[in-house]
Amino acid sequence: MRARLVESREIAPEIRHFVFEVPESDQFPFIPGQWVSVEEQVGGESITRAYSIASPPDGNRFELCLNRVQNGHLSPYLFTLDPGDTVEMRGPFGTFILREPPNESVLVATGTGIAPFRAMLPARLAKDSSSRITLLFGVRHEGSLLYRAEFEALERLHANFRFWPTLTRPQPEWSGRTGRVQQHLEEAVGSSRDCDIYICGLRVMVDETRALLRALGFDRKRMVYEKYD
Ligand SMILES: Cc1cc2nc3c(=O)[nH]c(=O)nc-3n(C[C@H](O)[C@H](O)[C@H](O)COP(=O)(O)OP(=O)(O)OC[C@H]3O[C@@H](n4cnc5c(N)ncnc54)[C@H](O)[C@@H]3O)c2cc1C
Repeated sequence: MRARLVESREIAPEIRHFVFEVPESDQFPFIPGQWVSVEEQVGGESITRAYSIASPPDGNRFELCLNRVQNGHLSPYLFTLDPGDTVEMRGPFGTFILREPPNESVLVATGTGIAPFRAMLPARLAKDSSSRITLLFGVRHEGSLLYRAEFEALERLHANFRFWPTLTRPQPEWSGRTGRVQQHLEEAVGSSRDCDIYICGLRVMVDETRALLRALGFDRKRMVYEKYD
């Protein structure tokens, strides 16, 4: 399908939020957590990359959240798109979706790994007010806490939702959590070994988090993950 860029804006240094629509259709159905495959000709070469959908289903629109990878093949090109430009996409794909029935869950993200969780959370929280959900979100600087106001609003609205941002390079005035997501995992899961853990981000974080969960006594079946590289 061809997807048309409706708008894009910088939401943190080197990170942009994109709103696309599928002009030939009035619906673009997907399950929150799934991704699209973007396929473009860049410098005479065909490049294909996956991007998690960062928004809940909404007619023919969907949103992406991209990091510009320095000297990357596709992401710098996507940052040059203007509203009205179109890109070739396929999808939706993927099985990184919330399990049913709702269960106590810990969601672990770093950087743009937050995208699928932004898509998943509103419907899950609207549907289930009893199972606790903890979103553990790690970035370097406070200014890179993507969609922070939205997660804080969800936390105010839903007593079963906890938003735990953590910074690896905090300014002195930051009074919240610091360090990597791994450092807060044990506290996030508490004594439960029956909760589901969803992990999204770069390979190193995903692998380390899974190893830590294994050491804490979690069964592999409890871990659902998406690696970005
Ligand atoms: C299922 C899936 C979903 C994804 N969803 C997203 C998403 O929502 N947002 C997003 O920004 N990326 C996402 N990615 C990563 C994306 O597909 C590309 O790998 C990324 O945009 C880099 O592509 P590139 O061509 O610019 O860089 P390349 O030329 O492919 O360079 C690759 C380098 O970029 C690094 N890299 C890959 N992804 C990132 C990242 N997000 N941040 C920093 N370094 C990275 C790799 O480790 C590698 O060193 C996803 C990947 C997968 C497999």
